[in-house]
Amino acid sequence: MLYGALEAGGTKMVVAIGDENGKILEQKSIPTVEPDITMPKIIEYFEGKDIRALGIACFGPVDLRRESPTYGYITTTPKLKWANFDIVGTMKKALSIPVGFDTDVNGSLLGEVTYGQAKGLTDAVYLTIGTGVGGGILSNGKLVHGMLHPELGHMKMVAHPDDKYKGHCPFHGQCLEGMAAGPAIEDRWSKKAIELKDDDKVWEIEAWYIAQSLVTLILTISPQKIILGGGVMHQEQLFPLIRGKVLEMLNGYLKTKELSDIDNYIVPASLHDDQGIMGCIKLAIDEEALEGKSK
Ligand code: ADP
Ligand code: ZN
Repeated sequence: MLYGALEAGGTKMVVAIGDENGKILEQKSIPTVEPDITMPKIIEYFEGKDIRALGIACFGPVDLRRESPTYGYITTTPKLKWANFDIVGTMKKALSIPVGFDTDVNGSLLGEVTYGQAKGLTDAVYLTIGTGVGGGILSNGKLVHGMLHPELGHMKMVAHPDDKYKGHCPFHGQCLEGMAAGPAIEDRWSKKAIELKDDDKVWEIEAWYIAQSLVTLILTISPQKIILGGGVMHQEQLFPLIRGKVLEMLNGYLKTKELSDIDNYIVPASLHDDQGIMGCIKLAIDEEALEGKSK
């Protein structure tokens, strides 16, 4: 049985075909330009591939409320050509199959909890630190949507005592994204993040912000595992720094078996950057089952 995956990102669209076990059989990348140019290429890729359903994990903000007239739309994105674009409706109309839909980060989290290292867990977080910062939450076995969807990247930060940086977020200045996303690192140090690899101070400050956000998440939603992805997390030295700071900031307040094995609690993504498209396959499978049930 074949399913389609569309991981819709602000710079590229990854399209893929997978089977019912989440195995990816083929994939391709299409640049994100504007809907009139990009969507026909995506549709052309899936046409004739005999997929039973499609799953879309999409950059946001998106409308995930099924009862809403704009369900399946990309809503107020700063990428203006994509604002108020009906991505689910467009794909449904073109392919006439069930189309599952969620945020990009919930897609990656779903990939990890279905096929990856968080398999079987009911409570987990996926945080990506890249061009922006975003996070997906699974709580009691369900991906959290709420009134919109979580926007973990914009939680307020307490500045590191040695950090005078004002922050890169046009809305909040010193929020997590404003202090810790790739562009914030590059603006603060006037260098590409990758060229700062050997500068310990850079990663000490970076870990401070990420750890602070994880402590807030641990105290609020009590995840059984935290998965960190995105370009910035390619700096692997961040992991031990973040783990150490999380324990330091919690200061012994929580005692759980997960926290006592912190190397397996705060972990890198495990599916070789395929967690997003594998999550899309699961979104497709779930949507097919849901539509089958309602018939
Ligand atoms: P996106 O968030 O656009 O999907 P990425 O997750 O790859 O893409 O994030 C891109 C950002 O990550 C860039 O701003 C860059 O600064 C940073 N980045 C990419 N690769 C590395 C690396 N090896 N080390 C540190 N930072 C990196
Ligand atoms: Zn912000």
